Order: sequence, then structure tokens, then C-alpha cells
Amino acid sequence: MSTLHAGTHPSEVLDSTPTQLLIGGVWRNSSSGRTLAVEDPATGRTLVHVADATVEDGDAALAAATAAQPGWAATPPRERGEILRRAFETILSRIEDLALLMTLEMGKSLAESRAEIRYAAEFFRWFSEEAVRIGGRFATSPDGATRLLTIKRPVGPCLFITPWNFPMAMGTRKIGPAVAAGCTMVVKPAGQTPLSMLALAQILIDAGLPDGVLNVVTTSTTGAVMEPLIRDPRLRKLSFTGSTPVGQRLIEQSAQQLLRTSMELGGNAPFLVFDDADLDAAVDGAVAAKMRNVGQACTAANRFHVQAGIAEEFTRRLTERLAALTVGPGSEDGVEVGPLVDQAGRTKVAKLVADAVARGATVTTGGRAIDGPGHFYAPTVLADVPAGARILREEVFGPVAAIATFSTEEEGIAAANDTEYGLAAYVFTRDVGCALRVCEALEAGMIGLNQGVISNPAAPFGGLKASGFGREGGSEGIEEYLETQYVGIAP
Ligand code: NAP
Repeated sequence: MSTLHAGTHPSEVLDSTPTQLLIGGVWRNSSSGRTLAVEDPATGRTLVHVADATVEDGDAALAAATAAQPGWAATPPRERGEILRRAFETILSRIEDLALLMTLEMGKSLAESRAEIRYAAEFFRWFSEEAVRIGGRFATSPDGATRLLTIKRPVGPCLFITPWNFPMAMGTRKIGPAVAAGCTMVVKPAGQTPLSMLALAQILIDAGLPDGVLNVVTTSTTGAVMEPLIRDPRLRKLSFTGSTPVGQRLIEQSAQQLLRTSMELGGNAPFLVFDDADLDAAVDGAVAAKMRNVGQACTAANRFHVQAGIAEEFTRRLTERLAALTVGPGSEDGVEVGPLVDQAGRTKVAKLVADAVARGATVTTGGRAIDGPGHFYAPTVLADVPAGARILREEVFGPVAAIATFSTEEEGIAAANDTEYGLAAYVFTRDVGCALRVCEALEAGMIGLNQGVISNPAAPFGGLKASGFGREGGSEGIEEYLETQYVGIAP
């Protein structure tokens, strides 16, 4: 199948997107002939059917990745980098049809889909540049008796499992460094959003990626198809982005063969606002950190801890901003807030809001699901959320800002760290001393200081504690796909 430059009509975009499995450079049906439906969360209607891989298909994909590994590792770094660079350029040239495809399968607004696609493409540009900077070391041993040569080599065939909330970017930040490092791979996108990944695979093929380097399997029997691969000694690396409970299960499975793993898991990001903060910047940052992807981001601000002196004003302004947002189908012009991805997601949001209200929180805007087709929930602010509320402990994954207050810096830090998660945190203050003390005390892999957006392909993305381990992006990102080998040389 060749890449069509589709128009921006949904049926054209869907018709030009592959729906089969990609194994060894060939698009093919599932060995069972079965398919699974992809739903539009704004209407609940089926968009298309994609191939539903079996255990045998999963095995075939790993066999293809294993066969392609030696040739790919021997491919010059510049060539690997240039494939990524060409794919980067194609993604940007097709941003409109890719954005529509993403909005159709995932629900986010077109503006957000475009932003994700630009972000996703940047990982290819970044790692196209990193491909040619894979270094090593040479040293003389302290006693002068030997020479120490340190070599970096690709880790080998990888398995990537990605979530639905960022259907393309969660893929490119694994595929980019793996391609750059000389690793082959099997990718399993989320069942709800496979289309962006299938479109991306075609772009990489068109950019010259050799057969078997990237294999894509879509399946409805995820656990059954993935587990044998994770336990298979041909696989050398697993990189997973998704929920903490699934990540824990995959780590158990990967223990058998001591598989190298990277785990990008759940979050519960605190957003700290101190009395001296620039309130305009804090409210802008809050809207960005809360509402990106309708709150369905692992980095989303989950709870707002605001110092008592400005809590009322901050709540008033944030309420005004969230109440003014336009909610509707993501593909409509001017829509800022799309639907949640599914009914289960909306039910969870409703339950967490009801729990907070029952415990004494006040709804200052929203606080309700929106009737009609699609899984819409009104942007919501909860004020005076008490310490025991579940929403302060659980990832809400929806458009709800829960605000609690604190008095002293120590109290603010303690509240922020009172979670098993440690992915992102946000801090707003103009006091340099306070900023440094708080950043150093926060148990989070990433901190936005006076800014509400932290994701950046040039920075190391990843968490602490139950948010996982490993880093994606930055100069750290490629290290996840490299092994260190040392050669002792007699002079
Ligand atoms: P999820 O249920 O863990 O699913 C993520 C992926 O894992 C999907 O591809 C899913 O496949 C697959 N999966 C589910 N069960 C599996 C199993 N037994 N074996 C192998 N794979 C399995 O997570 P989600 O609800 O879709 O995603 C949201 C979560 O991801 C949130 O917690 C969010 O914080 C986290 N997240 C983290 C980051 C980060 O970088 N730290 C980024 C984005 C999202 P199916 O779709 O087929 O079930």
C-alpha cells in the first residue's frame, strides 16, 4: 500500500490508512482472518476495522524483527538518521490528514491533534541527529597495563506497547531512538487508537525503513499475544507506556529472561502555587497543565495545592477560564475540549467528583457529564477539596481541577509528595530560593517551574516511584536502546 496524500475528508483519510498487520515489510491480515472495530469517541460509531492479531501473528512479528536485526545494526548511522529525517518531514507535510485521523479515533480537538503530531515528529528530528552521535570511550587503565575500549551497541529486538492518549507521540519517542540506535522492533498500539500508528508505519516504510525493522500488530487479545513475546529470549527490550498495574504485570513477565525494561507509567501531578506567584502565569499554566488532551495525560496536573493567601483569587480565575472553554466533537472548528476516550473514563471522572463533593468540596463550574452521543464531561473546578478525597490520590484522567490549600512551604511540599507516583510536578513562585528548595524536595522526574507544559523531545521524560523508570527524549533517550560493551586491549 502506498501513502496517499489524502484530503481532509474523514472517509478519504480513513480509506488511505492501512488496517492490516505489518510483518516483515508486508501488510497482511490476521492469521485468524478476524478484525477489531475502531470507534469514534465523539459519536460512538465504528470508523473502520483493523486486523486482530493472534499469538502466531505476534510470533511472526518477533521473528521478522529478529531476522532484520543484524542487517539493521550494521546500517550506517547516517542512513538510519536520514530515514528518520525523511519521516519527520513527511509527517509535517501531512499534518492535516494525520490530525484528522487522530481526532477521529481518539477524540481530542484538531488543534490538539496537530500539536501532538508536531511533538511526535520532533522525536524523529531529534533522534535523526542523535543517530550520528553514538559515542564510546578509550582510556588507559590506572596501572598503565591495558587499554580500555568502551563500545555502544544496539540492545536488539524491542517490543513497544503504547497507550491511547497520545497515539502517535508515545510511539515516536520509542521508535525514534530505537531506529537511531540500530534496533528492530514490534509495536503494539492501544486497541482504541491503532490508526495513527498504522499511518506512521507506512510513512516510515516510504522513508526507506527496511523490511522487518518495524513490525506492527493490533490485537484484541493483548495479554495473550504480548506475554509469549515478553518471555521469548529473542526479545531484548520492552518499553511500555501505560498504567502502573499493567506495567507491574509486564515487569513480572519480563523477569524470567531478565529483559531490559523501560516503564512510563501513571502520574498524579501536583500543581503548587505560592502566594507570591505571578497569578496570570499560574492560571495560564494551570489551564495548559490541566486541559491538555482533556486532562487525559500522564503529566496532567491532577491536584492544585494553592497557598491560602491567593487560593480564592486563583480559584475564581481558573473557574472563569474553564467555564469559557468550548466543548464539542474534536473535529469541529473552534472546539477546545473534546470527549473523553470512552464511557469507562467518564464514569471514573464522575465518581471521583461525587466522592469529593460528598466529602465537602464545592463545584465552582462543571461537575457533570454532558448528555448526548459521545463521552463528554464539562470542564470542572472543585474548590476546598478535603485531604481525604480520592481525587487527590487517584489519577482522574479528565477535565477536573481539584483545588486544596496549604499554609507553609513545608506543608505544600508534604502535600505534593503525598502520593506513590512521581512523574510530573508544577511549581509557581517568583522567589528563587523557594523555587530551588521546592524543586529539590519534590519527588518527581519532571518539574515545570513557572510553566504548565514540560514535554520536550530534547529533555529526558520519565518518572520516579510508581511512575516507572527509564527516560525518553534528550540525550538519555537513546541510551535505553544501547548496551555498553568493554574490550580490554593489551598494548
Ligand atoms: P493501559 O490499560 O495500561 O494500556 C496501555 C497499553 O497496554 C495498551 O496498548 C494496552 O493494550 C496494553 N495492555 C493492557 N493490558 C496488557 C497486558 N496484560 N499485557 C500487555 N499489554 C497490555 O493504560 P491506558 O489506560 O490505556 O493508558 C493510560 C495510562 O497510561 C495512564 O495511567 C497514564 O498516566 C499512562 N501514561 C503514561 C505516560 C508516561 O509517559 N509516563 C504517557 C501516557 C500515558 P489494549 O489497548 O489492547 O488494552
